Amino acid sequence: MIVIDGSYGEGGGQILRTSLALSMATGKSVRVNSIRAKRSKPGLLRQHLTAVQAAARVSAACVTGDELGSQEITFEPTHLHHGVFEFSIGSAGSASLVLQTLIPALASLDGTSQISVEGGTHNQWAPPFEFMDLSLAPLMKQLGVGCGVELERYGFFPAGGGRLNMSVQGCWSKSALNLLETGPPTRIWARALFNGMPAHIAERELDVCRSQLKLADCQLRRVSSRGPGNALLVVVERPQLVSVFAGFGKRGVRAELIAQQVVSSVQHFLQSDVAVEEYLADQLILPMALAGGGHFTTTEPSTHLLTQLNMVSRFLELEARVTRDGDRWHVHLEH
Ligand code: ATP
Repeated sequence: MIVIDGSYGEGGGQILRTSLALSMATGKSVRVNSIRAKRSKPGLLRQHLTAVQAAARVSAACVTGDELGSQEITFEPTHLHHGVFEFSIGSAGSASLVLQTLIPALASLDGTSQISVEGGTHNQWAPPFEFMDLSLAPLMKQLGVGCGVELERYGFFPAGGGRLNMSVQGCWSKSALNLLETGPPTRIWARALFNGMPAHIAERELDVCRSQLKLADCQLRRVSSRGPGNALLVVVERPQLVSVFAGFGKRGVRAELIAQQVVSSVQHFLQSDVAVEEYLADQLILPMALAGGGHFTTTEPSTHLLTQLNMVSRFLELEARVTRDGDRWHVHLEH
């Protein structure tokens, strides 16, 4: 059994999801201790517990420690299988992060799976639906895996009640993927989503995008959801990949400030001459490592990215390393 110290690196929920995903994809059993030790409320929250339960369902795993607050689990997959699966987080926890746990494993099988997850679809510190749909899913296709995401209902923190449906059709191509292309974007656009608040909040976010990024394509969308919420998305399209930047409205924080943070991330990315933005960088490691490896350029590695590189070397026979070239970092995954 592979033993993972959950306090390593970022020490949050990601190392748990990655342990589950790699355990399912390789069939190797895993014990994860000190779960979310670096968070103020350690142990399994609803979103993480749903990820453990969902992983157990799709791989018929024997599990211990699968309860709220638990700081240690053991996970022994017996039979990974595709099929039609439905999961509900029961809170506004991120539906995308539950999908993130399952995709690498289900993509390792020949066959198609349909997965529906109820919870949050636009959460701070998690991939919003548009990231999954526009950025991650097309890259999965480049790695040989058919992947489609659909938003059935929006869900914002704290009310939740959203629903994402995803199909995954395996399996991985064995050719290396290289994401080095930078060059000028073919299109940049913004979308402000809102519900349960005055439209001027979302309008002011778009005004910042218009003035700072000179965007003409700014979409204002009133959506329906169980509770109020607001998200700003800026999408940078290039021929080989799409990058999605997001900010989330918060009570007491001015709309202009939320938008300015998103705009600054976009500007930093455009100036940095790299192919892959910070969040996609950590989320690409498992898919690329399970497929044929490859090479991409990114901005300064986050602890999430470094944790992922360490994790794939624990489960798979490959060399995972990062090198620096001025302000650009190169991530290499070689089988
Ligand atoms: P915890 O509550 O322990 O922090 P968590 O499971 O909610 O755990 P992390 O372990 O911090 O979260 O992992 C968050 C994941 O969400 C990472 O893979 C990160 O790349 C991704 N992520 C965070 N913000 C964004 C964003 N704006 N766009 C896309 N992905 C994001």
